[in-house]
Amino acid sequence: MSAPAESRRLAGPDVAALGDALAAALAPDRVLAGEDVLRQHGTDESFHAPAPPDLVAYPLDVDEVARLVRVCAGHGAAIVPFGAGTSLEGHVAALRGGVSVDMSRMDAILRLSIDDMDVTVQAGVTRRRLDERLRPEGVFFSVDPGANATIGGMVATGASGTTTVRYGAMRENVVSLLVVTADGSVVRTRSRARKSSAGYDLTRLFIGSEGTLGLICEATLRIHPTPEAMAAAVCPFASLEGAVGCVVDVGRLGIPVARIELADAAQIDAINRHDDMDHEVAPTLFLEFHGSQTEVEAQAAEVQEIALSSGASRFPWATDETDRRRLWHARHRAYDAARATRPGSQGLTTDVCVPVSRLAECIAETQADIETLGLPAPIVGHVGDGNFHVAVLVDPDDPGEIERAEAFHRRLVRRAIAMDGTCTGEHGVGYGKAEFLVEEHGPEGVAMMRAIKRALDPADLFNPGKMADAAAAPPAST
Ligand SMILES: Cc1cc2nc3c(=O)[nH]c(=O)nc-3n(C[C@H](O)[C@H](O)[C@H](O)COP(=O)(O)OP(=O)(O)OC[C@H]3O[C@@H](n4cnc5c(N)ncnc54)[C@H](O)[C@@H]3O)c2cc1C
Repeated sequence: MSAPAESRRLAGPDVAALGDALAAALAPDRVLAGEDVLRQHGTDESFHAPAPPDLVAYPLDVDEVARLVRVCAGHGAAIVPFGAGTSLEGHVAALRGGVSVDMSRMDAILRLSIDDMDVTVQAGVTRRRLDERLRPEGVFFSVDPGANATIGGMVATGASGTTTVRYGAMRENVVSLLVVTADGSVVRTRSRARKSSAGYDLTRLFIGSEGTLGLICEATLRIHPTPEAMAAAVCPFASLEGAVGCVVDVGRLGIPVARIELADAAQIDAINRHDDMDHEVAPTLFLEFHGSQTEVEAQAAEVQEIALSSGASRFPWATDETDRRRLWHARHRAYDAARATRPGSQGLTTDVCVPVSRLAECIAETQADIETLGLPAPIVGHVGDGNFHVAVLVDPDDPGEIERAEAFHRRLVRRAIAMDGTCTGEHGVGYGKAEFLVEEHGPEGVAMMRAIKRALDPADLFNPGKMADAAAAPPAST
């Protein structure tokens, strides 16, 4: 996919002047312009065309971020926030040049309160580092995307993960944020109180804002006690319909599973080969149960009964910690495993999410579409939330394959939207999914998003050319 046309890039002398001003505001060794570092910061993990910034800056604290924003505003330079660069929709591409603000050196864990069950971190802390800090305290942060993303990036994309079905996505787990806005103001979006009815929900406005409204510098997050007991199960089914039917029944009965993840036979085969595992090659649910010993046993027994009556061939469940970790490690690397089945390929990763009652229908129609597509396209999904991904493996040098994969993606998104679903359950819009925004929200919804953007960022400094900015009229049918 080609990036939208560039405009407003700074000329060479302007870049030099901007670099000098930023070096004075931060430190000369934290403003870089080398070719490699620019390329790396304009490139994400997707097959969307990259676009390098003119400069990369590394602030250390909120005051430096505020100074940096004022300098960029004074020079008319775009600002593209950068976390770990693991996003999938061209989010970090500097479509209009400017400064990539790399938050990775703002990586302090500032405060942990077990009594309040919250933790405050700088935006550049990665989810694995946070996990390492929290685990010995007997608590954990639940949102676990498959990549080692930063908390700032996860807030900005409204990320979720395998435990969202039980503990919620970022939207449910962010208490408050400290953000720097376009005029360099520092705004705390909310207090740390458990509840608040005081005005608009500024926190949620920034969750999913994808760097288009301001720079997230700190986040206060909800944490959870580590459950007394945990058990995992891997459950192969005779058919995908059976596996999805089991998910719907588990949800209807309100069984509080901690994880319920689907992989189709192609994805299981890829995981077996990539991670040296020997799962039965069949549509499979990966499950996890949290609670007291008795609760875990009761949940597992209930789900076992539903699974066996939905066509599961067996329901082995285990409490062994090493096996459990190995299992989820392999699940988190499903995308790498899929890509390894076609060396040199790039994945066009879809991300639709539908009401759980429409999930079976949506997956069945998608499977039929995959059969005519002629490209490898394994399915994996957070099906407890109605969210699933198809990784269409394309040869990045074959425009014909890319065109077929994109047409498949459009059909899938329209199918999901027609079922009252969304084009993206968790990855976000970037510029890759902007074409679907009007179809999903209507022109009025997109107009409201643009009005918010204009009000908070009138000079269009933050991540220009993305999200609502890039939303167009619905594309012609393909
Ligand atoms: C193998 C793989 C598996 C994945 N699995 C999942 C998954 O299970 N669930 C899921 O939700 N996602 C998943 N993702 C996508 C990705 O990991 C998430 O979107 C993640 O939240 C991005 O975080 P990041 O730190 O890499 O952000 P980046 O990619 O650096 O940035 C993402 C966006 O956020 C903005 N941004 C970053 N930091 C800030 C900040 N401090 N302030 C303001 N804006 C900011 C950027 O401008 C950009 O628009 C996966 C990706 C890969 C490669």
